[in-house]
Amino acid sequence: MYDVNSRHADDFIDHQEILDTLAYADENKNNLKLIESLIEKAKLRKGLSHREASVLLACENEEMNEKIYRLAEQIKKDFYGNRIVLFAPLYLSNYCINGCTYCPYHLKNKHIARKKLTQEEIRKEVIALQDMGHKRLALEAGEDPVHNTMEYYLDCINTIYSIKHKNGAIRRVNINIAATTVDDYRLLKEAGIGTYILFQETYHKESYLELHPTGPKHNYDYHTEAMDRAMEGGIDDVGLGVLFGLDKYRYEFAGLLMHAEHLEAAFGVGPHTISVPRLRDADDIDASSFKNGIDDDTFAKIIACIRIAVPYTGMIISTRENQAVRERALHLGISQISGGSRTSVGGYCEPEPEDERSEQFDVIDTRTLDEVVHWLMEMDYIPSFCTACYREGRTGDRFMSLCKSGQIQNCCHPNALMTLEEYLMDYASPATKALGDKLIDKEVLNVPNEKVRAKVVENLRLIRENNRR
Ligand code: SAM
Repeated sequence: MYDVNSRHADDFIDHQEILDTLAYADENKNNLKLIESLIEKAKLRKGLSHREASVLLACENEEMNEKIYRLAEQIKKDFYGNRIVLFAPLYLSNYCINGCTYCPYHLKNKHIARKKLTQEEIRKEVIALQDMGHKRLALEAGEDPVHNTMEYYLDCINTIYSIKHKNGAIRRVNINIAATTVDDYRLLKEAGIGTYILFQETYHKESYLELHPTGPKHNYDYHTEAMDRAMEGGIDDVGLGVLFGLDKYRYEFAGLLMHAEHLEAAFGVGPHTISVPRLRDADDIDASSFKNGIDDDTFAKIIACIRIAVPYTGMIISTRENQAVRERALHLGISQISGGSRTSVGGYCEPEPEDERSEQFDVIDTRTLDEVVHWLMEMDYIPSFCTACYREGRTGDRFMSLCKSGQIQNCCHPNALMTLEEYLMDYASPATKALGDKLIDKEVLNVPNEKVRAKVVENLRLIRENNRR
């Protein structure tokens, strides 16, 4: 029985409710009157339920689909402006005792070199990332209670926050590690992590059990209830995601939104972010052998429908996608992207040798951070290195209220412009700097409050004179 408040996975991700939702969406996929009314409801920017959003996802009418895309773009603009937050993944360790059938880290893979970074190696990797201009990282690791202990993660986080190098400093460390206990989540919170990210992989329990045949990750309930424990441990920014390609996308979509509804109902705050990874080839993984892959159009539709359903939730796309797919996704709702990523352990200092293949997945967008920043600005996006909210403690529901109060344009926008100018001064190529300065001069005029605008202009002048306060 579907119970959105229950803390048991089978209640808040109720299989029967998902099947009923899919049947309802199927019945109504050409019900233009209903679809039109759902689009009108979505225009109120209060989101849609999993049932309602599933009807929009199933909609086959071209004219309605156009309206859905246009609304997603508008909501994206209204809530996030033209800022795109940048980050990079940092792979700490590929030791793993799980048997995930889609991931090259699985225990039975004997031909990838297993590596775990020492604190000294982390220092080198982070300096390499700082030298590109990164300020936000997402830590990644396999699950191995002997090699990858909580103590190890806490050391890594402390090391990263303590590295000061030229003008660089990592200001926000997010972490994507296996489901763990409330006590461990509390420790991660105390260590100062930003978002705790954990992909569900698939919400379809039967598939989940088959895709994770061995290891601790086999425990579907423990994995699915992880965000409840994380929130109980005091982490208020959690990041959801499914790995598209493992099961049927409409099932995953409904499950994902039910999970978001559950967090909102149980804790008063929904997920901080939703990621949309698609399955990719990797060392001994052939993505085409999984039968639920989705094409680029379906992928775009999913992103647009998530944007409409949960307007306050940030959306993340990684370098698993090529430039063209990322470009389309940015328009439809993505607010954070990775750039210059390496997905092998130690990959920022020592790129993978030709004969080795220990990346977690093949990176498709291989451009440098400077190229990604340039590309974003050519499309009039503002690449944002800002972490002010996090430093001011504006996380969880406090961040949501900032969004809802409409103050983002007087607060996030100026911060993004100033941190972008710092990036341009410190790290950008001459062509990127020239393009960025032009964009900033234009964008500063869009700060609505006159006093704030004057202050930003003054700060920008000081940054350009290398006189930072
Ligand atoms: N050990 C953690 C866990 O169990 O969730 C972190 C996993 S891993 C470092 C991060 C994510 O990469 C996984 O959750 C999975 O969704 C994704 N991933 C694994 N194999 C992949 C593949 N072949 N292609 C694309 N993404 C993949």
